[in-house]
Amino acid sequence: MSGFVDLHCHLLPAVDDGARTLEDALEMARALVDLGFSTVAPSPHARPEYAPVDVVEARLVELKAALEQARIPLSLGRNAENILDDAFLRGPCARTPRTARGAEEQGGGGGIRPPPPGQPVPPSGRRVAGV
Ligand SMILES: [Zn+2]
Repeated sequence: MSGFVDLHCHLLPAVDDGARTLEDALEMARALVDLGFSTVAPSPHARPEYAPVDVVEARLVELKAALEQARIPLSLGRNAENILDDAFLRGPCARTPRTARGAEEQGGGGGIRPPPPGQPVPPSGRRVAGV
């Protein structure tokens, strides 16, 4: 079976606690393809202690080129593992989130939309901000 999509994968090299090198990422990509995945949206941690978004974007471009050169049939998308902490929920000016699409493509701002009216508060006490 093939055609699976992985939306939570630390495949990008040297941006978080996932793949350490480009070679590691290529080996992981081969394993994913062998398991039936055709698309991955690597989800690097979007926290201040990890690589900033410009580095993540550069690694994504590098990995796409390396996959093509190595003839590994795996498509990559944009993604991030955001943590819904107070800084994230303060709004688009507090921190620029990494999203499946660029913030501009989402209609402006930092990509965070306010929660819908009447949205329930989860037991953790954190609000979900429309993600
Ligand atoms: Zn993760």
